Amino acid sequence: MGDAEKIRNVARRIADVRKSGTSVVAVVSAMGDTTDELIELAHSVSKQSHPRELDLLLSTGELVSCTLLTMALADLGQEAVGLTGSQAGIHTDTSYGRARIDRVDTSRMQKEMEEGRIVVVAGFQGITEDEDITTLGRGGSDTTAVALAVALEADRCEIYTDVDGIYTADPKIVPEARKLDEIGYDEMLELAYYGFKRHPRSIELGRLYNVPIYVASSFNQTPGTLIHGNADKKIMENRIKVTGIACTTNVAKITVRSVPDRPGVAAALFEPLAQSGISVDTIVQNTSQDRTTDISFTVSGTDLKAALAKVEELTKEIGAGGLASEANLAAVSVVGSGMQNTPGYASRMFRMLADGNVNIDMITTSEIRISCIIKEDQAEEAVRLLHRGFQLDQPE
Ligand code: ASP
Ligand code: MG
Repeated sequence: MGDAEKIRNVARRIADVRKSGTSVVAVVSAMGDTTDELIELAHSVSKQSHPRELDLLLSTGELVSCTLLTMALADLGQEAVGLTGSQAGIHTDTSYGRARIDRVDTSRMQKEMEEGRIVVVAGFQGITEDEDITTLGRGGSDTTAVALAVALEADRCEIYTDVDGIYTADPKIVPEARKLDEIGYDEMLELAYYGFKRHPRSIELGRLYNVPIYVASSFNQTPGTLIHGNADKKIMENRIKVTGIACTTNVAKITVRSVPDRPGVAAALFEPLAQSGISVDTIVQNTSQDRTTDISFTVSGTDLKAALAKVEELTKEIGAGGLASEANLAAVSVVGSGMQNTPGYASRMFRMLADGNVNIDMITTSEIRISCIIKEDQAEEAVRLLHRGFQLDQPE
């Protein structure tokens, strides 16, 4: 919802659904770049971190769109009521900036719906037991929406956004990327973790409670993508088995050299990192030679400085030999449930990258994903190579 016209447009679409006899709870996110602007404003006022106040500040972005949408609905003759996250009964833990939803008390929303109103809820926020406002992390309105669908036992959750569905790769990188009609939760989760623009927590919730999530455009009526549990099961043996190619940029790698090979060392390294809120992704440990080993792992480029400072201390504590780091890396991932138990996908991926002269730095796999860490400036080309190589441009 970028401007007044777009808000009126969203209101019309919601009103149409309501007129068809469906009860609607609409969750809104902030307009345009509001959240970024609020963060910038906070930083320009104070260099310190103020987690509680920052969340209270950021929650206002969603209040703006919530109230405006409710007014636009009233203009269309629809009875509607705007609710903050806390009025909607969304209770979270106390982790400011990345709060998790503990429970949703639906009574207020139910009452409003019973009285025939459309309920418009400010996304991305909740309230703690001590009645402090929290936010759920960037992109968190998706999670609010799915959580409310779960709590209200809705038939499905529809997300209208600036992309018109889930594609086989980012269409900005791969113009031939195809929109998928449907995708399974597991595949969608891997794609979301590894670079697709969806909040992974919302997909986790959908999967856990089996709520189908439909992702479509907020600007036009073209059909979107349905994320649901049965999509995985439809895979026949000879279908194209790769579903999508994901890419994460701004990846950094840290290598701790000559780490003593004894129990407890990995824990001594990664526990303090986790406690500092630094999330570690790919981890590779070599087999040891002369009772020492090298451990490499990746973090987000944004966390590199903080991670290095921490690891430097730890290197001394655990008696490791040294430390190296590299920024400007990327992870390209091939994802598909159909790859399970089918050999040859990894080697095909490596061959395609080799033929494109892309050097692979690290490799990790899950049952339905293969990821390679490569240089960031080769990432887009790698995505195109893999998309073409696995024939994702061709209709099934
Ligand atoms: N406004 C919040 C953000 O920009 C939440 C959202 O957009 O879903 O991260
Ligand atoms: Mg936003």
